[in-house]
Amino acid sequence: MSKRQVTSNETGYFWQKKAVPTRAEGLERLSSFAVTGLKSYSDQRNYDYGPSDRSNISLLSPWVRHRLISEQEIIEKLLNIHSHRDAEKYIQQVVWRTYFKGWLEQHPSVWDSYQKGIWSGLNEVSHDKNKTRLYEKAITGQTGIDCFDSWTVDLMEHSYLHNHARLWFASIWVFTLKLPWELGANFFMRHLLDGDPASNTLSWRWVSGLHTKGKNYLATSSNIKKFTLGRFKMDALLDEVASPLNELTEHPFQSLTSLENLPNDDFLLLVTKEDCNSVDLAKDLPVSALGLMLSEKSEVFENSPAVFEFSHGAVVDGVERISSAGEVLICEDWLEPLIDLARSNNVTNIVTAYTPIGPVNSKLQSIKPLLKNAGIELSFSRKQYDQTFWPHATKGFFAFKKSTNNLIKELAVN
Ligand SMILES: Cc1cc2nc3c(=O)[nH]c(=O)nc-3n(C[C@H](O)[C@H](O)[C@H](O)COP(=O)(O)OP(=O)(O)OC[C@H]3O[C@@H](n4cnc5c(N)ncnc54)[C@H](O)[C@@H]3O)c2cc1C
Repeated sequence: MSKRQVTSNETGYFWQKKAVPTRAEGLERLSSFAVTGLKSYSDQRNYDYGPSDRSNISLLSPWVRHRLISEQEIIEKLLNIHSHRDAEKYIQQVVWRTYFKGWLEQHPSVWDSYQKGIWSGLNEVSHDKNKTRLYEKAITGQTGIDCFDSWTVDLMEHSYLHNHARLWFASIWVFTLKLPWELGANFFMRHLLDGDPASNTLSWRWVSGLHTKGKNYLATSSNIKKFTLGRFKMDALLDEVASPLNELTEHPFQSLTSLENLPNDDFLLLVTKEDCNSVDLAKDLPVSALGLMLSEKSEVFENSPAVFEFSHGAVVDGVERISSAGEVLICEDWLEPLIDLARSNNVTNIVTAYTPIGPVNSKLQSIKPLLKNAGIELSFSRKQYDQTFWPHATKGFFAFKKSTNNLIKELAVN
């Protein structure tokens, strides 16, 4: 397959434009991709042409991850313009996100064991001089593996890696460098604009052979050469035959948590980076809105400034679109500002978009009983799309795809 011709206009639009964390920008990018980008997506999407040419993919992930735009909106938009057949490949990618989200919600112990694995991985690395050195080289782009080092630099400079590069990178990290997968996943989370607890953790587990048990993803020199159009010196030996990782821990299925009814009374709206488009969460408008962000240091090592800025901007956009008087605070203590604002507005209800498993959810679960003690009810509102699709994410992706195929077709608006 040869590289298609890209006009400078297309390239400029998709990549050289700054990643502005607003819903308006996400919608504009979605429209442009739907009209001009989708046509060649299924043939071209696996090619990684490097940071100067991202015209063959949508680059929508930072906006979807913050839910400035939703999976449902993307699917509806594409099916309004294209046939299901033409849009199928792209929709299938979008649905991976839905699948991973739903799967992690129903196997929450995976998140806990990943968190513990970061600390045990650090412990392992710090007790072995060779591993300490290798880990340092891996996160600074100095392993001597040309492609891997180049992706490390790209990730730190652009806060983004192509999907294929993420697969190769994770595979080399785990099977060639033999570093703990949890440290690699954490490195991604700190630097990706789209860093997402479910997509990232489960993709790393998938590459390692822990998600689909016994089946790992092995990066090969020939595959990298082909899909990067020979951009790298492929002189380092990759482990192309390694066995999958295994783990002793079982991760039991747990049904999705059922949610309380939303309040009929006045309420305060809380916006977090998990969902920055909360306009239609409840039937009525909130009396006021507050955005809360954890500081960049609080999420198991520091997030890069670019990642933090994007998330912060997304929360600001989410609040501003609801209430011009709303504010966004960056703090570790979320209890006091919520109680203060609820009391000053004379309300006893706070509503927020459902927060899937991850640091924000942990924070809210820890303060929910304390708010209750203060006479304030915190309620979560789950989007209908999640409510419908997530329960199907119990086994592998292909079973999920099969059981949701008709649901997706139904999203086409007449
Ligand atoms: C090791 C590894 C880690 C990853 N970590 C993340 C992460 O933290 N956050 C994240 O959003 N994606 C993650 N991905 C998935 C995927 O690489 C990115 O979503 C994609 O590269 C984003 O670029 P794009 O929007 O141009 O993608 P496109 O190719 O244009 O795909 C369209 C959309 O489909 C969704 N998508 C595609 N593939 C996946 C996938 N495997 N999982 C979930 N959604 C997908 C994204 O929303 C994306 O915007 C990871 C993949 C791997 C292999």
